[in-house]
Amino acid sequence: MTTRTSPVLLVLGSPSQAETERHRGPADRFADPLSPVANALDLGITRGDGIFETITVVGGIPQALDAHLARLERSASMLDLPAPHLAAWRAGVFAAIDQHTEVPEAFVKLLYTRGVEGSGLPTGWVWMQPSGDFSRERTDGIDVVLLDRGYPSTVAQTSPWLLQGAKTLSYAVNRAALREAHRRGADDVLFVSSDGLLLEGPTSTVILKLDGRLVTPRPDFGLLPGTTQESVFEIAAHNGYSTGYEALTPADLRRADAAWLVSSVRNAAPIRSVDGAPQTVDAHLTESLNTGLASRTT
Ligand code: PLP
Repeated sequence: MTTRTSPVLLVLGSPSQAETERHRGPADRFADPLSPVANALDLGITRGDGIFETITVVGGIPQALDAHLARLERSASMLDLPAPHLAAWRAGVFAAIDQHTEVPEAFVKLLYTRGVEGSGLPTGWVWMQPSGDFSRERTDGIDVVLLDRGYPSTVAQTSPWLLQGAKTLSYAVNRAALREAHRRGADDVLFVSSDGLLLEGPTSTVILKLDGRLVTPRPDFGLLPGTTQESVFEIAAHNGYSTGYEALTPADLRRADAAWLVSSVRNAAPIRSVDGAPQTVDAHLTESLNTGLASRTT
């Protein structure tokens, strides 16, 4: 580890499997994240045509790395991007960690775009920076509003071109939803389908403690399969809870014994109110989930 606390950026020479096999592209290089690095004609910038992953790093260990790389591959396939060269991305994650000062919590971002228009070559880069302090959200909880996403829960099957469930760079809608939550005096959003089912947050998965079980909406409702939710289910199963993927409604949320929005970096944030109505917080279980998440070794 070096002594850098500022972001560290690594530009990948060969982000796709095909490119690596053809030995194209410059060698991987570290760059100054504050200097212009990306090409102005990159389709990731001009069209939001690309994908990303955000991976928490605790004590120098990237959390759920395999799950994040598998999801990068899944998103690439949904966008018809060339298959990412996972070994290069994995090496990129460790190279960024190695260049960064060890801080208690940080995150690594993987960016993979369709590349400069007309070049046919994708672009890839990796950066790492210290995480913010989420202790308040993890303990006091968050105020959430329900917002209609405007799509039915069948959208992934009926209209796969809408890319629901892919982690694309087109997050302007998700950012707008968060601003709407702030306008309503809340911290975060839980999207609801046009047919009345709970979906996910703009950057998180919802988990309910319902009838003594931990449950989350079914990913086939056009949801991003959450790596944190998967880890939470493993931790919960280890603590004797049964878990499941279900069709859940706002009424289920209201009667839940506890609920969380879970995501990389912030981890498990208990929901303390929904549309202004108080929601029960299970402080003990929240703490054990966050302790379990922070102590992942893979
Ligand atoms: N759902 C969406 C739409 C997201 O953007 C994210 C993360 O950013 C999640 C769920 C949670 O995924 P993870 O737990 O892998 O961070």
